[in-house]
Amino acid sequence: MVTLSPRVGRLRANNPSPMTLDGTNGYVLRVGDGELVAIDPGPVDDAQRDAFLAAARAADSSYSAILVTHGHPDHAPGAAPLAAATGAPVFAHPAARFPHDRALRDDERLTFGDAAITVLHAPGHAPDHLVFVLEQELALFTGDVVAGTGFMVIAPPYGEMRTYQTTLRRLRQHYGNATALYGGHGPEVRDVRGKLDDYIAHREARERQILEALAAGASTIPELVARIYAETQRGLWPAAARQVLAYLIALEREGRVRAERLARATTPAEAALLDPDLSKLGEGTEAAVIRAELGFGTAEPLLSYQRTLSP
Ligand SMILES: [Zn+2]
Repeated sequence: MVTLSPRVGRLRANNPSPMTLDGTNGYVLRVGDGELVAIDPGPVDDAQRDAFLAAARAADSSYSAILVTHGHPDHAPGAAPLAAATGAPVFAHPAARFPHDRALRDDERLTFGDAAITVLHAPGHAPDHLVFVLEQELALFTGDVVAGTGFMVIAPPYGEMRTYQTTLRRLRQHYGNATALYGGHGPEVRDVRGKLDDYIAHREARERQILEALAAGASTIPELVARIYAETQRGLWPAAARQVLAYLIALEREGRVRAERLARATTPAEAALLDPDLSKLGEGTEAAVIRAELGFGTAEPLLSYQRTLSP
């Protein structure tokens, strides 16, 4: 376990991939004399479960609760085996579809021996996403809302761009003064305000790029991706396509973009971006993570997008 603060340790699951970076971060929080809380047990993985158990033995402590940021397959499935091994209850969002003992309200305050954790509903990346705030250290546990490096994919149908942006602004407004941010992937962040500002600005810049590319004549998602992500490795273009779709859905809903179905068939190159063969993107649990994170599964029709005259 990597010690990050007097109360916080990190256990990284052994599931590295393009979607999970170095692997999913699990956290062990000291919340009282002999009392711990686990955050994000990760995938079903005996080694990661045993690491959580070893952390409790080493601290001569036991788990009072297992908190899960969201239901994606790299964060939640390990909760059941860890609960079975420890007897600790699993806490999750009311919309969570994995087994849990208690649903947490927005702004609910969980108190333990000598620490308290505030629960925030934080939808956008996933509808069942929570962010946890350890009050004693003013530390945020952000799951896939904010990662230590890079930016998260917001992909339809479960990811929703405007909802996600609202979540980011809420964190920035109320917790910009946090001393640490511990994401679901990547390293810890100490400049929390700067990180949230980056995330907010990145989303706005990407949206401007999409509107500019539309104005310059790109009209389909593959054309937009080729223009905007020209510098990005092509293996990531299917993910980029999902990301662009998330913006276009928001812009269309707001009346700033109009979509119409193209009469011609999708070319193989277009289909490779819009409806990729998932078996080629990864295997087993990695494919499950890709499917959940990118929301693949329904074939996207080939649409042509135009800007409207409204601002
Ligand atoms: Zn996720």
